[in-house]
Amino acid sequence: MTPREVPLFIDGQWRMTPDTLPVIDPATEDVIARVAVAREGDLTDAIAAAERGFALWSRTGPADRAAVILRAAAILRAGIADIARDITLENGKPLAEAEAEVIRGCEFLEWDAGEAVRDYGRIVPSRPGIRYLVVHEPIGPVAAFSPWNFPMSQPARKIAGALAAGCSVIMKASEETPTGVLHIARALADAGLPAGVLNLVFGVPAAISTRLIPDPAIRAIAFTGSTAVGRVLTEMAGRHLKPALMELGGHAPVIVCADADPVAAGQAAARRKYRNAGQVCTSPTRFYVDRALCPAFTDAFVATAAALRVGPGAEAGVQMGPVANDRRVAELQRLTDDAVNRGARLLLGGVRLNRPGYFFPPTALADVPDGAEVFSTEPFGPLAVINAVDTLDEAIARANALPYGLAAYGFTRDAAHVERLMSGLQAGNVSINTLEASVAEVPFGGVKDSGLGREGGVEGLHHYRTVKTVSLAQP
Ligand code: NAD
Repeated sequence: MTPREVPLFIDGQWRMTPDTLPVIDPATEDVIARVAVAREGDLTDAIAAAERGFALWSRTGPADRAAVILRAAAILRAGIADIARDITLENGKPLAEAEAEVIRGCEFLEWDAGEAVRDYGRIVPSRPGIRYLVVHEPIGPVAAFSPWNFPMSQPARKIAGALAAGCSVIMKASEETPTGVLHIARALADAGLPAGVLNLVFGVPAAISTRLIPDPAIRAIAFTGSTAVGRVLTEMAGRHLKPALMELGGHAPVIVCADADPVAAGQAAARRKYRNAGQVCTSPTRFYVDRALCPAFTDAFVATAAALRVGPGAEAGVQMGPVANDRRVAELQRLTDDAVNRGARLLLGGVRLNRPGYFFPPTALADVPDGAEVFSTEPFGPLAVINAVDTLDEAIARANALPYGLAAYGFTRDAAHVERLMSGLQAGNVSINTLEASVAEVPFGGVKDSGLGREGGVEGLHHYRTVKTVSLAQP
């Protein structure tokens, strides 16, 4: 099979470049496509196109902007099966999860399109003879960066917010999973988005961010990825006084209180943990379970995880695919071995599967000592840690002990415990008796090292707007 070519999209035109990078199917390790590497000139063209696109799109009325975005979402919904196949091929997740991702990406587009037309400023009653108007304006061309774990819904979320607010975008999605964003660009172009409003580039990530972020034309940055890279990009944005939306790593704790149903919690937790092979920034990872419930919780968790069918995501009935790249396999092996060497009990999995592809099985560890690296490094894979705790105070203290604060979860039926979890957990998103942490209609983002700013909800467009105060006096 000749690998397909994945081009750049600049000023409404698809553009292949001489240098390319391989795209690998994680289920087979075969090269399935080659993605264009942007040169300096391509990036300069993208910036110029985004400036022209901004001039046009920022003057387009909110209802017209919303109509284009909604038409694109409808086109994407009609193509779910094809898009899901591409996502599974490049990222490895089961087809059903890839389809759910496309629907989620469409929901992000649809929600933000709705918010575009509810962009109210205000008139402030003030001193005699003068009125103050507070007006929202699109901030300008945005440089956005999205990762490989959700190749369609992650870029969709950034594109949705920026376009709904009236900004143009230069999007650098992951070179390892480039096709999801191509579908979005095609759908938006078919829906009538003018040339230059959305531009796609791929290449060497550091070369692209170093070229785009400091450029005076770029007015805001948005990134989803690791805390380490987010810190570098935030520093660069800060030097140039540009706002940076950062959706970064997580290491989500789950507290199972003494009054919870341990079997229901264990089953639900195992089903959620291994979604997308655990490569989710909100993935439940550190389980702090009331000591009396811990054996029943652990049995239910392990039995549910052990029954998951692991295989290529495109195969019928598969519930967990490979991890997305060989870096994850190496890291998961390292974190598991480190914990076991320090005395943790390996309950399940723990060794790369002996077959082609980046297959690491559902893995669970118990009685993990405090010094284990898995407690300080986000595993970002199918690895769960289950430790018993004696009190809710201890569980909350352990949950908050890491510098991360993206998602945190609790299971309880006691109103007093609900209150303590809600107020005590340091996280941007706290979920109780559910492991859902992010939907289009509510804001999503982190505290501490998990990020800056929010995507989604009414807050989702804030990053892409600036506020102008107009003082209007009688002549
Ligand atoms: P990484 O830190 O090298 O890359 C993360 C993402 O950032 C990738 O999409 C990459 O293309 C991009 N990137 C890297 N350097 C960049 C730069 N200088 N400028 C612009 N973009 C850049 O790590 P990785 O091996 O791809 O992923 C590993 C870690 O990343 C995981 O352990 C996890 O913590 C984190 N991650 C988080 C999310 C999330 O949803 N928050 C998604 C993917 C990865």
